[in-house]
Formats: sequence, C-alpha cells, structure tokens
Amino acid sequence: MRYLLIFFAICVSCVVNAQDVVTSEPADSTKVDSVMVDEPLQVRPVRTLGKVAVIDTLATDSDMISIVLFNDNTWRYVISDQYKADSQVFDDHWDTSATHAYKDVELASLPEATPILLVDSLESYHYPYIGRITSRYGPRRGRAHQGLDIALKTGDPIYATFDGKVRYSKAAGNYGNLIVIRHNNGLETYYAHLSQRDVEAGDWVVAGQQIGLGGSTGRSTGPHLHYEVRYKGQSFDPERIIDFTTGDLRRAELLLKRRHFSIYAKYEQDFDDEVEVAKIDEAERKAAAAVQYHTVRSGDTLGALARKYGTTVTRICQLNGIKSTSIIRIGQRLRVR
Ligand SMILES: [Zn+2]
Repeated sequence: MRYLLIFFAICVSCVVNAQDVVTSEPADSTKVDSVMVDEPLQVRPVRTLGKVAVIDTLATDSDMISIVLFNDNTWRYVISDQYKADSQVFDDHWDTSATHAYKDVELASLPEATPILLVDSLESYHYPYIGRITSRYGPRRGRAHQGLDIALKTGDPIYATFDGKVRYSKAAGNYGNLIVIRHNNGLETYYAHLSQRDVEAGDWVVAGQQIGLGGSTGRSTGPHLHYEVRYKGQSFDPERIIDFTTGDLRRAELLLKRRHFSIYAKYEQDFDDEVEVAKIDEAERKAAAAVQYHTVRSGDTLGALARKYGTTVTRICQLNGIKSTSIIRIGQRLRVR
C-alpha cells in the first residue's frame, strides 16, 4: 500500500510540474498489443493543446506508429518520435542556432515541382491562429514580406500547424520571440513576435499543441502573429495551404512549384505569363503523374525496390526522408518515384 501511495504521489507531482513547465520529451513508449490497456497508465508530462492535452503515448505492433491518448478520451495514430528521429528530415541542415538553416541551398537546385503531403491518416493539421489578415505575403514597402500577419490579442494561444520538431526557439531580432518547427514533410513553419515561448529547440510537437502566446516583440507595431511557411529555406504564400478566415487546410497534398517561391507569387494572383505557366504546368503534370508508391511486403529490401522500379536506393531514401540503413517494415508505404 505504501508503494502504491508513493506511486500516486509521484504521478501527482508529475502533473503539477507539467502544468508549470510544458515539455515534450519523446515519451519512452510502453509496448502494448492493442488499444485496450489493463494496467494503469503512467502519467507523462501534459502537453497543452488547443482543446485537449496529450496524456500518454503508447507503442503499437509497428515501430513506426504510436498511439497518442488525449485527456478527453480520444486518441489518434501518429508516426512515432523514434521513427521520425531516424528520418533525414531532422538531420539535414538541422541548426538550432540560426533562424534560417538552408542558407546554402540555391533556389535553382530545387525541383520544378515537389509533392508535399500535408495530411493523411497519420499526419494531422491545426490552424496556427484564426484572425484578420493585416498584411499578406508579397513585396511591402521595398522589402519582401515573406509571411503573413494576423492581428491578435497579446496572450492568445498559438498552435503548431502539423506534427514535427522544434528547430529554433529564441528571441531573434526583428522576428522578436520566434519559434520554427520543422515538420515530417520537410516544411518549416515560423511563428514570430510571440510574448511567450512554451517549447524549446529539440522538442517534438503535435499539430494543435500550444507552442506559445501571441505578442508584439521584435520589429512590430502592434500585437500580431507573423507566420511563414518555408521549404528548404524558401518561403511561399501560407494562403496556398491555409484559409485563414476559417482556419481550414485547403488541400491534403500540395504540389509545391518552384515558381511559388517568388515573392510576387501570391496565392490569389499569378504574374507569370501564360506561355511560361503552360510550359511549367506540363512539366509538373509529368512529375505528378510519375509519382509512384510501393507497399512493403515480406522480403522487400531497399536495394530490391530500387532495381524493381529502375531507381536508386539514394533516391528512394531522399523521397521518403529515410536513411539507407533504415529498416523498412511490412505494410509501410514508400514513395519509389
Ligand atoms: Zn509580418
């Protein structure tokens, strides 16, 4: 009985501490065979979300997939932190001290079109903040405004857009208090002028998790969220993916075109001449049509898949953000082209 009391005392102190300090260390998961759990759940640090909080993370039969339990008795599948940690996305140009990590990546080196998965059964979405847009993406007073501004009240909660890992969380000059999250799909989202930062570089976050509070720090004339979306360091109009009036995601998959990285390429307008657009669209159509997936079966290896689809192990690794040494699992969906 005494041990039981000590156990509860520890649990209670965990919860109390967690309310003061929001951490998101990768949970060392408990292995279970199904969603039904007989043992009492171990209490993990509570991660604050918009409506609910994460109370635990459980392993499944697949190393790739964990189950996240919320305090309102709901749950959802997520790609496990361990598996994500194995992904190249969080290795390549990973810099927790620079606001922009891909400074040496030339725009010309990016493909004409890159398909980006935004949401599916494992990847979810939450708006960063809903409000009136006060300044859009585009040129502004001789400078490039590489994100958009949404008016808010200082202290309003700001949410992570997709699952991912915090790459940067610091005060950063004009940006003020800035959080940059790198997501599983390679996108990075920037949240600037915050009055409070609730997460630190290296923390894993889930879509909808509160990461800080809105404010007016840095180069700012009033409380607002400056929000940017970047791919390999290149910004594009966040309105391409989010309708900020409703907070809805516009699409599940984005075909991100190289010309979208121009500061003049606003979502609502297109400055390219029609011939140029037709030429690029044809290239994109071909690129999109060539995309092919393979569901891993028993006996498959990366080398065998590369031979089967006439590609290379390096290319398959690139397309899926995995390493050549990564273990592929039966049922895993790999992009092969
Ligand atoms: Zn701004």
